[in-house]
Amino acid sequence: MEGVKEVHLFLSHYHLDHAIGFYGAFQLLKGKRVTVYAESGRQVFWEFVKLKHFPIDYTKAHRNFTWKALKEGSYDFSSYKVSIIKQRHRDETSLSFRFTFPKTDLVYATDGEPTKKVIEFARGTKLLLHEHGFTGEALLKKKLDLEKHVLDGHVTTIGAAMIAKSARVGKLVLIHHEPFVDKEQLGKQLKVAKKIFPKTELAMDLEEITF
Ligand SMILES: [Zn+2]
Ligand SMILES: [Zn+2]
Repeated sequence: MEGVKEVHLFLSHYHLDHAIGFYGAFQLLKGKRVTVYAESGRQVFWEFVKLKHFPIDYTKAHRNFTWKALKEGSYDFSSYKVSIIKQRHRDETSLSFRFTFPKTDLVYATDGEPTKKVIEFARGTKLLLHEHGFTGEALLKKKLDLEKHVLDGHVTTIGAAMIAKSARVGKLVLIHHEPFVDKEQLGKQLKVAKKIFPKTELAMDLEEITF
């Protein structure tokens, strides 16, 4: 991040497993011009700050963070383009993003449901970063339609691989791992996905992915 003056952050939704990193980002991105794009444009932790759970002062300490609302559609930035779709996530919504750079593109899709809309959205992308809700034994044995591969507002591993296959993406990297499983269990999920879409990998902390 050294030498970088401007940072754009895209937030799918405000659930804490996605927003908690801001606690570190406020420190790590000090002095940089940061714009956070999210569905509502609301500051993260705003409710906690109101309740005095966090000593965050958005009017003074973190004025380098600007918060902007985005809707479904396409937006042109100077060096890249972003397209956005809204997904159902339990009784709430989340956003998925497709970033188009001059020579490549990627799709980030998480915390949603497996739909044909996502397949069309991810069609032909070089890199699909997709969540994978844990696919248990019971689901593995059944042959289900894509729409059924959902667990508590999340697309399962099989669902993610089916989307990657139908959308003919270059590579699927599974993100948003189940927090309470070990490496061996994750490895089994990877095997399940690879049977459907061989060009699948598991994302690892601090990993840099080329595409
Ligand atoms: Zn969520
Ligand atoms: Zn999540």
